[in-house]
Amino acid sequence: MHGDPGILCFQHCKREAKIFCFKLPKTCRLCGGDLETSELRIPPFRVPYPFISAKNVPCCVVIKPTTGNFLCNYRNSSDLHIGVTSSEGDVYEFDKEGLLTGKNEDWVECLAVPVVAKYDNTWKEFWDYTLQVVSTQEKWDCSRYHEENHNCYTFVLTFLRTLQLKELKSSLQNKMRFCMDFIIPRTRGAAKYIALFRILQKDGVCVQC
Ligand SMILES: [Zn+2]
Repeated sequence: MHGDPGILCFQHCKREAKIFCFKLPKTCRLCGGDLETSELRIPPFRVPYPFISAKNVPCCVVIKPTTGNFLCNYRNSSDLHIGVTSSEGDVYEFDKEGLLTGKNEDWVECLAVPVVAKYDNTWKEFWDYTLQVVSTQEKWDCSRYHEENHNCYTFVLTFLRTLQLKELKSSLQNKMRFCMDFIIPRTRGAAKYIALFRILQKDGVCVQC
């Protein structure tokens, strides 16, 4: 596991140039100026780490790469595994082994995909109750799993449809529509962070103008 690699961002001599690094270099990549003695336009701040443990995102949809973690293994949104958290942050997921819960150690660096903005206790009870009803259905037996037609997305979409929320209806027509409305906007931001991380691993410093 990586955890937050602590990417820093600062500005030195040029207003439009953001400089990223893990550790502040001695000199500016742009002007060659000494960074310890000269003033920084914007002092270093930590770039927010986009990944979070499922335990910290109750009543939420969560995604992660099918194998490995985002920073090292993510290529594109087609290799993502998806699950739902209970009000306690326990992940419910469906894969070739059937319906699984409580494998939270696999979900310490996932992306949260909030689909509903309701947080009161009645809502949490309703969410958990629906999760129980849906997850105990027979169709999540491992024998029914099919990589394309009956998979982790089928489970999450079935659960969300069972909530019967008007505002979600059009997004739940099929997997493609759901991905366009909810998944891709989340992975787009994460992909930028991942790309930056990989450049920094290779080059140490990255300048974005
Ligand atoms: Zn400079």
